[in-house]
Amino acid sequence: MNKKLAIVLASLLLLLDSSWITAQDRVVEKVIEIGATDNQTMKHLDILSNRIGGRLVGSDAYTNATYWAAGLFEKWGLEVQIVEVGEVPLGFNRGPWSGKMLSEDGMSLHFVTPSYTSGTKGVQRGHVVLEPKNRAEFERMKGKLKGAWVLITGANDGYPVDHSEYADTIRSIIIKENDRIKAYNDSVSFVNRQNPGKDQIPLKEYKDAPALFYKEMREAGILGIIQSATVPLTALYDRKNMEYMDFDNLPTCPDIKLNEHQYRIIEQKVKERQYFQLEFDIRNHFRPGPVKFHNVIGIIRGTEHPEQLVMTGGHLDAYDVATGGVDCGTGVAPNLEAARLLAAAGAKPKRSIAFCLWAAEEFGLWGSKHWVINNPEKLDSVSNYFNRDGGPTVANSLTVPPAMYEDFKKATEVLNSINPKFPFTLNQRQGEPRPRPVTASGSDHAWFTIKGVPAISFGTGDPLGYDFNYREIWHTERDTYNMSIPEYMEHTSIVTAIVVYNLANQDNLLSREGLYKEPDKEEIQRNKRQRGSLIR
Ligand SMILES: [Zn+2]
Repeated sequence: MNKKLAIVLASLLLLLDSSWITAQDRVVEKVIEIGATDNQTMKHLDILSNRIGGRLVGSDAYTNATYWAAGLFEKWGLEVQIVEVGEVPLGFNRGPWSGKMLSEDGMSLHFVTPSYTSGTKGVQRGHVVLEPKNRAEFERMKGKLKGAWVLITGANDGYPVDHSEYADTIRSIIIKENDRIKAYNDSVSFVNRQNPGKDQIPLKEYKDAPALFYKEMREAGILGIIQSATVPLTALYDRKNMEYMDFDNLPTCPDIKLNEHQYRIIEQKVKERQYFQLEFDIRNHFRPGPVKFHNVIGIIRGTEHPEQLVMTGGHLDAYDVATGGVDCGTGVAPNLEAARLLAAAGAKPKRSIAFCLWAAEEFGLWGSKHWVINNPEKLDSVSNYFNRDGGPTVANSLTVPPAMYEDFKKATEVLNSINPKFPFTLNQRQGEPRPRPVTASGSDHAWFTIKGVPAISFGTGDPLGYDFNYREIWHTERDTYNMSIPEYMEHTSIVTAIVVYNLANQDNLLSREGLYKEPDKEEIQRNKRQRGSLIR
């Protein structure tokens, strides 16, 4: 080759190379610019939580959210997948609810009911009784149960009172035990006539089956049961109860979880045999099923390796006692905005980017599990799945195994030049890799990690001191739009867009070297014992 030609070729290559780099930089620049001047993260969150509302699996709101999100992806020019994940036997839509104590010292009542439980038949008023604890007590008060609200023991854990056959079996065992205790107590109080409290054994309560005479009380015509609940109030749903629910067999007994302070006041009045009434109006509506639910996935298709994926997402479903503004509006809104920013910036990455809005995470990680189980051939081609499900805090760090460090360094370099308020830290993981998980818990990254797919999430923080507390909101009545923190959420959308885009443009998938250590038998056992830990 002559010298002249070599120079021309070299400069041509240089030109090609730099023009590609410039194209990538231009997309990143554009993402930063639109992200700063026209960030729509909070608009997505407003629609998701305030217009659509609490997106319980089986609710109209969930279905609405599915088609709304799919419509956005479509509008922005992404490829859209709506994938059926499962179904529930019937649907549930929560309406408004209110309650009052009718007395001289009356008050409006602060309470919730778990999803898929009964509402009232309009405004219903009734007197209040304490639940009977043994057969004799039940017999003594059975005439008073009709039209009564019954205070039951135990503390609200969010779940409705279990009315399965299993729970009824436990109840009958405890009732028998209490009958025996009562007989014993009667006999010792006869002996200790001077001191009737002496040697008395307390009657048994059982936290898994409160409302000992649940069936009998219902048949006697009670208006509903009321349990003490800590604030903020939590309301979930029980899959067990749902399994044998259908339109001919709907729950009929309102299951009220009342602010513990109000519960104590009411309980004391009942013990003092004061007469007063409680009034409740609860609109819990059902819909004939089965009701199917779907994942929504928006894809920016890769130009060179369309089959390879950088994945990011959060879960679309939420509990409906609030509006899922945080759990998981926190994940959905920035991911939607990341998709919009990249589309608006004209991103044409080498490999595909998938924005995943999972169904039924709160039901047991169903949506992400469905994807992982049904796409085994794609798992080796996933660079990383970024899950976001932990509050409206700002994505400001990553901790990665040494083998991934250089790739992440390139992908995150620009993040420190966006907003001085939010410096970004990239850490190299120290020490041995953790064993690959063998059971699923936590959130939608879990099934990816079980299969050995990288699922490193952004570390997040509250660097400006908004005093955000996830536990205070998580699965409670407070999980609303206004708990979110706009500047954190908006910055997160930009960070997400840039990192997934840069990774999608690198020459290689992220290395899995040293990502996990293979679990040994002991770890599998330990994991089994820890099963059932917190699902976000
Ligand atoms: Zn969650």
